[in-house]
Amino acid sequence: MDYSRAIDRLITRQLRDWDLAGRNYAALAGVEMRRLELGESTIVLQYNPARRRSSAAAIDRQSLLSRKCFLCCENQPVKQKAILWGERYKIQVNPYPIFERHLTIADLKHVPQRLADRVGDMLSLARALPNFVVFYNGPQCGASAPDHAHFQAGAKGEMPLCGELTHATTHMLADGDEGFIGYVDTMGRSCFTIETSTQRAAERYVLRLLDLLPVPDRAQEPMVNVLCWWDVTDCIWRVVVFPRRKHRPACYGEGEGRLLVSPASTEMGGLWAISEQKDFESLTAGQLQALYDELCMPRQDLASVLTAFYQRWDYLQPI
Ligand SMILES: [Zn+2]
Repeated sequence: MDYSRAIDRLITRQLRDWDLAGRNYAALAGVEMRRLELGESTIVLQYNPARRRSSAAAIDRQSLLSRKCFLCCENQPVKQKAILWGERYKIQVNPYPIFERHLTIADLKHVPQRLADRVGDMLSLARALPNFVVFYNGPQCGASAPDHAHFQAGAKGEMPLCGELTHATTHMLADGDEGFIGYVDTMGRSCFTIETSTQRAAERYVLRLLDLLPVPDRAQEPMVNVLCWWDVTDCIWRVVVFPRRKHRPACYGEGEGRLLVSPASTEMGGLWAISEQKDFESLTAGQLQALYDELCMPRQDLASVLTAFYQRWDYLQPI
């Protein structure tokens, strides 16, 4: 079912009736942008002071236990409305937007952020929201509420990756009747890309890929950012998985020589919301490349994932 009209109504009403959202979306409309080139990719920098709240969010266990979860109903402002999606999720307007249309899709229950049993939900959401890119930030990869399972969705067309991916140099890993899984490393950061015509195949490819990626000590899943959208022209799902090795850069922080960024799916997609003016004005393509190199899975680790992939080809081939 296409939720586009219901989402349109939700956004219109929230921007009209909820002053916080109205103000922040109005501010976003006049935001300054810069563009930088990185390999086959364009990176868009967005000067967005309102995102400071997210970039600076404390996500250590103690901080999470002592704050009121902003995705739980009982802690949300009465003016924040929701659309129920299925029996498990609510769709809401994100009051601190990076996108002209920015949604948060949270579990109705306060349960930890984990992807494995939600891949099918993510794909169904992408199909239900054909004008959006749905994305998942792992608990150690930019999620500002790692204790409450959620996705986000941003208007298609604002994240450079979505347009660039179809032209990117792709190394094919497995190709079947229902789609393929490939690997792209010419955009300044490496990612796995999946294209399939069936939800079943997309889900199996994503799960099998997650199964091959290393899981850090004491973590429940590999460090990943995952983006997914329904391609209305080709009638296929496109899923992009960015393996990560680090949450925040060593230079994370405020003040001279520091950088207040907490990169997640949108930054992997080529859209960087920068909350400090000095950072927005001074960031260079070289610094961005260094940040991607520091935060994303290094080439040698990716090589071992690819080796494991080929060793288990028979296991991966049928979809
Ligand atoms: Zn919660």
